[in-house]
Amino acid sequence: MTISSASYSQSYLDDEEILEIGSKGAEYRADALSKRGSLLPQPDAPLPYSTAKRLVDAKKQSIAREGHEKAAAGKQWDTLLNNSIPKTLPRRQSVACFRIQSGHDFLAKHLNRICIYDSPICTLCLIEDMTSQHLDTCPALQDISEQIGDDGTIWYRKANTYWAARERMAAEPRIRRN
Ligand SMILES: [Zn+2]
Repeated sequence: MTISSASYSQSYLDDEEILEIGSKGAEYRADALSKRGSLLPQPDAPLPYSTAKRLVDAKKQSIAREGHEKAAAGKQWDTLLNNSIPKTLPRRQSVACFRIQSGHDFLAKHLNRICIYDSPICTLCLIEDMTSQHLDTCPALQDISEQIGDDGTIWYRKANTYWAARERMAAEPRIRRN
């Protein structure tokens, strides 16, 4: 038994829609049926391999990210989860920015935390704790900031200031063991 298009339409559309279709023609009826059909439960079609692989990879990444977020909660390096350091930076800038963002920056505060320096105070100006934020305002690095000026990206400025601080620290006498 075949179903005519009119009876098929009637079985899936309500009276109001059928009246509206009657006045607008077959094309509108096809659109209405298509729209209605898209809202019905869809059959489980077999997935192509590439789609299945993509879904599995996405789920794996999502599970891994949840694990990383739990492990990083409250840690300084949790900023690395939303890492905004461009992957195309030259190695020198990339290393400096990664160290700054992770907090494992080999500046006095970090070196004090891992028992290499006996004080977290900036060894260049002796004013406050030597963190990556301090480098932006450290008077002993004022010449570097002026030299860099507004040239380059923020990554370029951060990296150059960082390496200048590290070079000056390396030139200091090494007597800071506990
Ligand atoms: Zn300083």
